[in-house]
Amino acid sequence: MAILPILKFPDPLLKEKSTPVDGVTPELSRVIDDMLDTMHASAGGVGISAPQVGVLKRIVAVDVSGHKRGGQEENHGLTVLLNPEILAKGGRQIVREGCMSIPAYTANIERAKWVLVDALDRNGKQVILESVGFEAVAIQHEVDHLDGILFLDRVTSVKTDLFRRKKYR
Ligand code: ZN
Repeated sequence: MAILPILKFPDPLLKEKSTPVDGVTPELSRVIDDMLDTMHASAGGVGISAPQVGVLKRIVAVDVSGHKRGGQEENHGLTVLLNPEILAKGGRQIVREGCMSIPAYTANIERAKWVLVDALDRNGKQVILESVGFEAVAIQHEVDHLDGILFLDRVTSVKTDLFRRKKYR
């Protein structure tokens, strides 16, 4: 278990498309453990994707249970998803997002209000997950990373929706 360095924008690896996981190996389990350590080491970190630690595999983890908004809502706690596919989504919400790879900024981003996700859990078992509210935002944000999409790519107006922050928390 280890805390890994997080790739920071504009690292070109963050713009790459990640490839599917084809089987849960001890090596893959170690990557997942390291991702979780890295996420938990960041105060306020509610999600992480493998490409952010330089591994171009379709792995994400979210945990909004400790977040001031997400923790108040229905959520699945710590959730690891391999090869996540968003099967359906609906509604809309605008939420202030941050990213460990873009520590200097936050932005108001429009996302679906709920998502239905097909994925494998960390043991390789298929799961169908329905998520709403802040957790759904975290999932959409992390799945975007697997396709090389950052929240900066989804900012509608740099003038009104992008904010510089003093320090990442
Ligand atoms: Zn991010």
